[in-house]
Amino acid sequence: MTARILVVDDIPANVKLLEVRLLAEYFEVLTAFNGPDAIAACEDGKVDVVLLDVMMPGMDGFEVCRRLKADPATAHIPVVMVTALDHVTDRVRGLDVGADDFLTKPVNDLQLITRVKSLVRLKVLTDELRLRASTTHSIGVDELLARSDLLKGELPKVLLIDEQSSSAAHICALLDGAADVQIAADPQSGLFNAAEGAYECIIVSSGFSDFDPLRLCSQLRSLDRTRSLPIVLLVNKEEDDLTVRGLELGINDYLVRPLDRQELIARLRTQVRRKRYNDELRQSVSQTIEMAVTDGLTGLHNRRYLDSHLPRLVERAAARRRPLSLMITDLDRFKRINDTFGHDGGDEVLREFARRVKKSVRGIDLACRFGGEEFVIVMPDTEGSLAEIVAERIRSEIARTPFKVGGTEQGVSVTVSVGVSALVMEGDTVAGLMKRADLALYDAKTRGRNRVVARAA
Ligand code: GH3
Ligand code: MG
Ligand code: MG
Repeated sequence: MTARILVVDDIPANVKLLEVRLLAEYFEVLTAFNGPDAIAACEDGKVDVVLLDVMMPGMDGFEVCRRLKADPATAHIPVVMVTALDHVTDRVRGLDVGADDFLTKPVNDLQLITRVKSLVRLKVLTDELRLRASTTHSIGVDELLARSDLLKGELPKVLLIDEQSSSAAHICALLDGAADVQIAADPQSGLFNAAEGAYECIIVSSGFSDFDPLRLCSQLRSLDRTRSLPIVLLVNKEEDDLTVRGLELGINDYLVRPLDRQELIARLRTQVRRKRYNDELRQSVSQTIEMAVTDGLTGLHNRRYLDSHLPRLVERAAARRRPLSLMITDLDRFKRINDTFGHDGGDEVLREFARRVKKSVRGIDLACRFGGEEFVIVMPDTEGSLAEIVAERIRSEIARTPFKVGGTEQGVSVTVSVGVSALVMEGDTVAGLMKRADLALYDAKTRGRNRVVARAA
């Protein structure tokens, strides 16, 4: 895992020290000796993690962090504040300005490398989502990145897996007011609860009487339902090996006992902020994809989706020698409805038409708005004769009950013409199938509308 780390400190010897250690782990290292240079380097967009000294002349580390987190272009870059050991209040200030993590001077090697690695791992995920979101032109991504309110509102929901009740009670007391903590008293129920509940972070307390905490971590990582949940491992001072193997398994962070309240809260908040952020990004990406294949007026699939999906359905039917039918519907004299009730009235009719179609077809049928007042319904596993019956059901369903438009009392009567075609086993194509349905529809129109016509090959 290679990444570019920016080391910021006004004292060159401190920069050198961190640089050497990071280079030894094959990280690329950039350096800056003051706040403005650090910000400029981040704005260039090539930094994955920032190690930021707090005490610098001119612009101090807090101000640098605050500015980075306030700018949508740099807000997603993880910032690790490097503080003096005895300055606990620095951590609180660091949290306030949005720092993602802390290291204390003198910097412990294992802590340095594992924290940087875990932040890089999170950054890689975030970058991937950012890229997908921006390539699908998702709106609102930058706003999301700049939002600092991901931790406002609901308290982080945390599952603490701890066999020792005194330790569990202590951790709950530390997190009082900062998180909504549930306790699982053994690893099995911990795993079960993690999969069932809506948690945002799992804290695994090492020291089970007869269970390897790393086995639990690896189980959490392998279950679908818990795979993306952040895991924080609590270890004792002499358990560096456990920590290193845990990080290799994909735990997100660790804390060494005795626990410091500020540090515990800071690390928890970092994990939960990232999780919420990534969840929102993921959701905005899937919404964008959904929007791209959905017709906004009716909620049915759109033509783009039909174009990409119909060939697959036809191929599959042909390969399995299963029937497949298709219908094209076109509302009759729709221009008149628009002329009489206006465009909005026409839209109401289209929406109601889509609702009735949806009610008349099966879940596996694919109903699309093809354009204007034309719809296409693809019916897998359906013979042409059966498709005609379904088409007739839709036609009568439309004609029988007038449509309520623009507040009219008795409603307006609407009719539809339908063309049906069925896949022929040998040598048929998507274009041929569509063409035959279209010709059938044309027949239905010329023969007086409000009818179903099927076209054999
Ligand atoms: P026919 O029975 O021959 O199909 O007659 P028609 O009036 O339906 O004829 P045509 O297909 O030429 O007209 C379709 C009309 O549908 C034209 C267009 O103004 C209208 N239309 C297309 N898209 C929309 C839409 O999204 N909303 C509304 N309200 N009208 C639409
Ligand atoms: Mg038309
Ligand atoms: Mg029409």
